[in-house]
Amino acid sequence: MIDITPKQETAILIGLINQLQNEKKSQEYLDELEFLALTAGAVVKKKFYQQLEIPNPTTFIGSGKLSEIDTYIKMEEIDLIIFDDELSAVQLRNIEKRLEIKVLDRTNLILDIFAGRAKTAHAKTQVELAQYQYMLPRLTGMWTHLGRQRGGIGMRGPGESQIETDRRIILDKISRLKKQLLKIDKQKNIQRNNRGKLVRVALVGYTNVGKSTLMNLLAKSKIFAENKLFATLDTTVRKVVVGNLPFLLSDTVGFIRKLPHTLIESFKSTLDEVREADLLLHIIDCSHPEFEEQLNTVNQTLNEINAADKPIIYIFNKIDNFSYVEKEEGDLSPKEKENYSLEELENSWMGKKNTPSIFISAKRKTNIEELKELLYTKIRKIHITRFPYNDFLYPDEPIIKDKE
Ligand code: GDP
Ligand code: MG
Repeated sequence: MIDITPKQETAILIGLINQLQNEKKSQEYLDELEFLALTAGAVVKKKFYQQLEIPNPTTFIGSGKLSEIDTYIKMEEIDLIIFDDELSAVQLRNIEKRLEIKVLDRTNLILDIFAGRAKTAHAKTQVELAQYQYMLPRLTGMWTHLGRQRGGIGMRGPGESQIETDRRIILDKISRLKKQLLKIDKQKNIQRNNRGKLVRVALVGYTNVGKSTLMNLLAKSKIFAENKLFATLDTTVRKVVVGNLPFLLSDTVGFIRKLPHTLIESFKSTLDEVREADLLLHIIDCSHPEFEEQLNTVNQTLNEINAADKPIIYIFNKIDNFSYVEKEEGDLSPKEKENYSLEELENSWMGKKNTPSIFISAKRKTNIEELKELLYTKIRKIHITRFPYNDFLYPDEPIIKDKE
């Protein structure tokens, strides 16, 4: 039998070390980038780091590092190289020319994953728009790449006019996609209005923290959840009843570090679900060593889409996977964050008045009843402002005891 499975592409990753990202941080970024590459279907063979305060404007990294990489990729027959930071058109072109290899950056990779996972017309249109928007300022690099294959002599004239033509085609596509999205948005708005006055709750959080798993648990539904980044791209909305209280719960796309602003713009209508929610459930994977930074990334993105001032509950998930390093007796050096026990972590967050917090495991179903009680209390408060005379829609069903 002929094996028709395509060969898995091999990749190397490249990250910078500088004042903004020290060695440890840079390693964490590249670990995440490796996870992204894996999700896209590539195997990472090696990670390269370069200490550099300001990236080289023409080649991003220095010439010594380029040579080192060149030797490695030729020897190991690597298919593509992925940069953790965004490359300019010039950098992209120069690196491609120097190494004769496919070059991607983080944004590119994320877009590729999105493209592979978008199911509905809505998601597909948004991804396509983001891809063209990403492409537009980089046309020069891409055209030169094509031009080189065509021989190169006398490229300048025809090349430039070709870029102009390509630019116009792409601008055209962008405006067509925007119109298409507006149309879909209108339909979505109608759908949303038809949902009536029910309280709307949105799950938000970094990618892979367990949003879909929790949605499945609360809504008793079956949404695709797996240990990959961006397993879900489309928003799902389900009616959920806790106690006697009905509300709408939506599962949204996860946030991630270093997402360029234009990308967030392209996914605006997906994020409408978040923007229009009455209550946000911010899921945090507290077993992740970087959970605090992830939490901040999500809060920053919420800020960018003007959703940061909504009522919010922090749900710390994956407590079953939480681990810490206990300090030896007599060790009086200050505690690092990896020395905090779950109990200490809980105490530090539960004490914060403004944002209610709860610690759960969606997988092991730990503390889910407590979570439901918390949800009930919060949602009921909003619910009774909408339905002042019809507080209990299902009077015969048992009510979860309101703790207040
Ligand atoms: P999403 O990207 O936020 O929607 O995350 P998913 O719901 O797809 O879950 C990502 C991964 O985390 C999956 O492999 C889940 O099985 C896993 N997961 C979800 N909740 C828990 C939990 O409470 N504990 C552990 N250990 N894993 C979990
Ligand atoms: Mg999900």
